[in-house]
Amino acid sequence: MATKYRGIPSVEKILSHPKVKSLSNIYSHDVLVSIIRESLSRIREDIQDSKDVPNLATIADGISTRISHLSQQIPTPVINGTGVVIHTNLGRIPLSEDAVLAISSAAQNYTTLEFDIENNSRGSRNSHIEPILTQLSGSEAALVLNNNASALMVSLAAISKGKDVIVSRGEAVEIGGGFRIPDIISNSGASILEIGTTNRTYIEDYENAITDKTGAILKVHTSNFKVSGFVHEPPLSELVGLAANKGIPLLHDIGSGCMIDTTQFGLAHEPMIQTSVEAGSDLVLFSGDKLLGGPQSGIIIGKKNLITTISRHPTARAARIDKLSLAGLKSTLIHYIQNEALTRIPVWSMISMTLDEIKARVTLWNKLLDDKCALTNGLSAIGGGSLPGETLPTILLSLDNKLTGGADRYARTLLEAPIPIASRIEEDRVMIDPRTVLPKQDSHMIGILRQTLKM
Ligand SMILES: *Cc1c(COP(=O)(O)O)cnc(C)c1O
Repeated sequence: MATKYRGIPSVEKILSHPKVKSLSNIYSHDVLVSIIRESLSRIREDIQDSKDVPNLATIADGISTRISHLSQQIPTPVINGTGVVIHTNLGRIPLSEDAVLAISSAAQNYTTLEFDIENNSRGSRNSHIEPILTQLSGSEAALVLNNNASALMVSLAAISKGKDVIVSRGEAVEIGGGFRIPDIISNSGASILEIGTTNRTYIEDYENAITDKTGAILKVHTSNFKVSGFVHEPPLSELVGLAANKGIPLLHDIGSGCMIDTTQFGLAHEPMIQTSVEAGSDLVLFSGDKLLGGPQSGIIIGKKNLITTISRHPTARAARIDKLSLAGLKSTLIHYIQNEALTRIPVWSMISMTLDEIKARVTLWNKLLDDKCALTNGLSAIGGGSLPGETLPTILLSLDNKLTGGADRYARTLLEAPIPIASRIEEDRVMIDPRTVLPKQDSHMIGILRQTLKM
């Protein structure tokens, strides 16, 4: 074993290998040396496991691979053929063109982010976005933070720290990715007071739980699962009445930030921002990057005094929105006041895409694939913490196993394409749903399909 150790090349020796030398023209010397050291310590460990010392060329190849992985841009684009509109693992949603331009412009320039041009004085980033949010929602005030999880945590910390937050047992839920209502409440410094049962909670349960120690009533939209059967929850109006009567703030976490009636597309009703404000919720909280269709952000709208209290809380500063997301969010909201949300915001273009449009597109795809695929009826999903279990009819491009040589393997091949294509497997066939493939990606996708199908 000792002789093997002697065979390990020195850092200097590796650095002088031509391949590594050429890397040193591109990459930082310190990073290169650090990767070489890592690789040498791995070789030492391998010797312990009775492996041999690789030759210099192999070591140089390994270093080249590692450093090129490090310098790979992420995230890279993916073609979403899954038919899941809000796809958590694929970064939820793409943004509108205007939002992208606004983000790019805010990134490239000094901006008025916290500058009041009119008075030549310091401004607030929230002042740019509050008026459009209050106008659209009918609320008195608005505050935008980093995401909805932080919006809820900051709100509770500011309003009900050291007090009880009343939550129905059926709503003390996990929304995925480590977001659990009981944890958010306890981390805000409040205590959760669960009432009712998982399937039935009555207004009396809320009423009986209210004491001097009550800091807030929290209503949470169970946005990623459905309960049915023997269930009951009091209507929002009753909760509003109770909260107002007792002088306790009612917080409504509605999740997806929906401002468009989803029933017109044959979907279930998703709670809407405007409806919750109108019903009298003191605060309504939602994500910017679900059905609202914008960048990651958490939006709080509601009563002015509460919003002021929240915005002054130190945790609000810790969770503030960045200028890029703010720029993209503002652009997204402008689509709503210009009545062009359905055509300009991708998530809504996808949801409102008609079956005829889908059919035309998938038929054209198939033509470009020499009509070798089948078209089958299927279902697209909304996904990502909104409209649980709801689907929209679609037409899928269905790739025959005779063509692909096996569904699992071909799905893998598509993921390894220069722009990965995420597909789905149904009935042991690879399927691609046109609803979630961006039209600008069509020709590229067909190119990849033709290539991988060896056409
Ligand atoms: C998605 C969701 C959250 C978390 O929102 P993020 O913006 O992802 O932090 C919180 N509450 C509900 C009801 C949700 O659906």
